[in-house]
Amino acid sequence: MSVSTNTQPPIIIAGAGPVGLFCAMLLTRAGHRVVVLEQNTEVAEDMRASTFHPATLDLLDRCDLSDELVSRGTSARRWQYMIHGTDQRAVFDLGVLSDLTRHPYRLQCEQFHLTRMVVERIADEPLCDLRMGWKVVSVEQGGDIVKVRATRGDEAVTLETPWLIAADGGRSTIRKHLGLSFEGSVFPKTSITLVLRFPLEEHIPGLLGVSYVWTDEAHYSLMQIRDLWRFSYSPNPDQTVEEALSEPVAQANLASVFPGLGPFELLQRNHYTLHQRCLESFRVGRILFAGDSAHLNSPAGGMGMNSGLHDAACLIEHLLPVLEGHSDDLLDRYDRRRRTIALEEVQRLSARNYRKHRETDPEKRKLIWREFRAITGDRERMREFLLNSSMIRSRQREAEIQ
Ligand SMILES: Cc1cc2nc3c(=O)[nH]c(=O)nc-3n(C[C@H](O)[C@H](O)[C@H](O)COP(=O)(O)OP(=O)(O)OC[C@H]3O[C@@H](n4cnc5c(N)ncnc54)[C@H](O)[C@@H]3O)c2cc1C
Repeated sequence: MSVSTNTQPPIIIAGAGPVGLFCAMLLTRAGHRVVVLEQNTEVAEDMRASTFHPATLDLLDRCDLSDELVSRGTSARRWQYMIHGTDQRAVFDLGVLSDLTRHPYRLQCEQFHLTRMVVERIADEPLCDLRMGWKVVSVEQGGDIVKVRATRGDEAVTLETPWLIAADGGRSTIRKHLGLSFEGSVFPKTSITLVLRFPLEEHIPGLLGVSYVWTDEAHYSLMQIRDLWRFSYSPNPDQTVEEALSEPVAQANLASVFPGLGPFELLQRNHYTLHQRCLESFRVGRILFAGDSAHLNSPAGGMGMNSGLHDAACLIEHLLPVLEGHSDDLLDRYDRRRRTIALEEVQRLSARNYRKHRETDPEKRKLIWREFRAITGDRERMREFLLNSSMIRSRQREAEIQ
């Protein structure tokens, strides 16, 4: 535990999403005081990430979070691509990475389990001051300090911190307040996710808990979380969002894919637009960006939250020595490392997944399928492939960037 800290002003973290809360936990465990400002009065329980990759579970071990998280979700050691209505499948086995990770599986568990767990654990932590309902509205930096103004209803405070961590999500107020450009693009196809309570595994031969599926002219994915299934697909472009999400249209779509099985109990329905964007720098003076505030990518392959948690770990590894007196140039390396990974690993791989999942051209599909079969038929190639998708490779590469 560090000794230098309790006399310094606390580090301020904007946002109690997975990234901000993981930063808070890592800092308090190292003996540093933090104030977390979260605009909502409760941690979010919306339907967002559900996949935790091996590299991320290994990182969460640092705060003893993985075992409990694993107990709350469903682990998939094997996952697959399949062709709907046939017995054709390409099965990937994360067991080939057992020598490199304590967690050779994909964990399917809603991200709110992680945020809830962290909030429960830091509730009694004297070094952490978690202020729910406080929205950061402006920031100003000068000298060695950042002034952070936050409001809650009619109340307002201005706090000072040596370092502000902006983990305030994809619509980051701090990024906008600083006028930073967030360049990138929007993917042409949107996505719908339905959460069903139905034992699909008892009805679809060969179904695995993580399955990416091609139908004749479209695609869908199925992710099992305990007794629930998340069914994701691209909606018909002729429909409005409201139509696509309506109970009859959602049920009709399910019935066309799984004839004779419905109607299904639909617990949640969500529609989202897919962006790919990145900040020009993850460090702006004494303001440090991490997670969705810094970069966005397609959710295909489930890398957004995972890479945000990797940002958090990398950021705190670089911030701790600075808090103990080392040069703050180290934080430029945080930017170089995580920005390179966001652009060259996470965006590249998730955009490639997006294209492969949505490919409908029969000739191109044949080539992709041949490649999947070649990879899954060769242990070394499968290991290479899974090093990327499990995000172990990007952690290795990050460590090599100076
Ligand atoms: C449908 C869907 C499915 C997804 N699936 C996956 C997946 O399987 N795997 C994966 O890795 N990723 C996935 N993602 C992405 C993942 O959810 C995000 O990358 C992740 O939530 C980012 O975490 P974060 O902490 O950076 O931001 P957020 O989770 O957005 O948290 C930001 C927090 O900051 C708060 N905040 C915002 N502004 C302010 C302010 N001004 N002051 C104070 N607080 C503020 C917000 O209320 C929020 O609590 C998915 C996303 C979606 C939408």
